[in-house]
Amino acid sequence: MARYTDAQCRLCRREAMKLYIKGDRCYSDKCAIERRNYPPGQHGQNRGKMSDYGLQLREKQKIKRLYGLVEKQFESYFKEADRQKGVTGTNFLILLERRLDNTIYRLGFANSRSQARQLVRHSHFLVNGKKVNIPSFLLRPGDTVTVAEGSRNLAVINEAMGALPRRGLAAWLDLDTSRYEGIFKVYPTREEMNLPVQEQLVVEFYSK
Ligand code: SF4
Repeated sequence: MARYTDAQCRLCRREAMKLYIKGDRCYSDKCAIERRNYPPGQHGQNRGKMSDYGLQLREKQKIKRLYGLVEKQFESYFKEADRQKGVTGTNFLILLERRLDNTIYRLGFANSRSQARQLVRHSHFLVNGKKVNIPSFLLRPGDTVTVAEGSRNLAVINEAMGALPRRGLAAWLDLDTSRYEGIFKVYPTREEMNLPVQEQLVVEFYSK
């Protein structure tokens, strides 16, 4: 599947927001957003006022890049959220948060969502005791996510777990580090997700 492989920090600078793509570096003073928080390119610091469409497009790109998705996947989550009862924007964010790769990142078993995706593909995790290697697998309340027994000595997982206190555990998850196990307790509320994004602009973007 096509995936953006150019300098990742440019994406954060373009969206004027940390997207936490590079793991440890994102929490250090080497982060490009800490050093140059303006859009990349020759005219990065001299961009004019954006149109409504431009704002909606940027917000869509920001959320898509935050979760590391391609357009087709992203749009299909939106359609699914639109079919559900309730507030479409919140439903949309909940669907993104339910992804297995995102949850593994949130539980601290990986330092970034892209690292989590790779670990899932290599079958390092179980969901409810069964191996799952599909990063887009959607979790439901009560589902457990466990590091596979043979993967518990992997340095990449243990280093990531050591860094979790810096990020904090999301309110809708539980974690037992001694058992390498997390629980997706409930669907998060909009407040709990604490995401600095305006999902309503994405709703407006796709409603045209
Ligand atoms: Fe984004 Fe991380 Fe690069 Fe900072 S270090 S700009 S958060 S990818």
